[in-house]
Amino acid sequence: MDPLVAKIIFVFGYVVANFVIRTPYIKAHQRLPIRSNRKTRVDTSLFVAVGVFGFFMPLIYVFTPLFSFADYSIPLAVGVAGVVVLIVANWVFWKSHKDLGGNWSPTLEIREDHKLVTNGIYRRIRHPMYLSIWLLVIAQAMILPNYAAGFAGLVPFAILYFQRVAREERMMLEEFGSEYEQYLQRTGRLFPRILSA
Ligand code: SAH
Repeated sequence: MDPLVAKIIFVFGYVVANFVIRTPYIKAHQRLPIRSNRKTRVDTSLFVAVGVFGFFMPLIYVFTPLFSFADYSIPLAVGVAGVVVLIVANWVFWKSHKDLGGNWSPTLEIREDHKLVTNGIYRRIRHPMYLSIWLLVIAQAMILPNYAAGFAGLVPFAILYFQRVAREERMMLEEFGSEYEQYLQRTGRLFPRILSA
């Protein structure tokens, strides 16, 4: 894919996810009171790292020649498949924000009036929002023909995901008890359970 086209698609595709979809939920997040806060300095640092490396570093690549040493060429078919992944990612990102509503937090927190969401996109998978971010950072690697900017989101998000997901489930289990235990049994983390007992 032509690098200029890739850059335009990246800027639009990521601005949609980051600003158009998420901004209203950040406002709600600041407004709604929090009852229990489990976030550590590591959580906050990883959240910032995903933003900086996943979004601002590619913007530097798009608007300056700073990372041109890491340019390479990506076959057109891979780039086009990346755009499809990006579209799916944005849809899942939007849907999971919509279904989670006021229960969303950027890190591990429980709201004053927290509800366990088990319907909509949460019906069969527990972490659709993390799935959407996996898809976003994978699309980034497939679309941007530059090693530094393309893989900049994948590495910090992989670390964030693996150090967070089990802790988040433990927090939800402590909070919602048997309701979450049953939810655990009928859902998968990122993909629906195929074999359910
Ligand atoms: N892991 C989920 C949510 C990410 S936002 C996903 O990937 O879709 C993180 C916050 O969402 C957590 O701090 C927790 O408070 C909340 N959360 C996670 N799963 C939830 C659920 N099923 N219902 C309500 N809140 C949930």
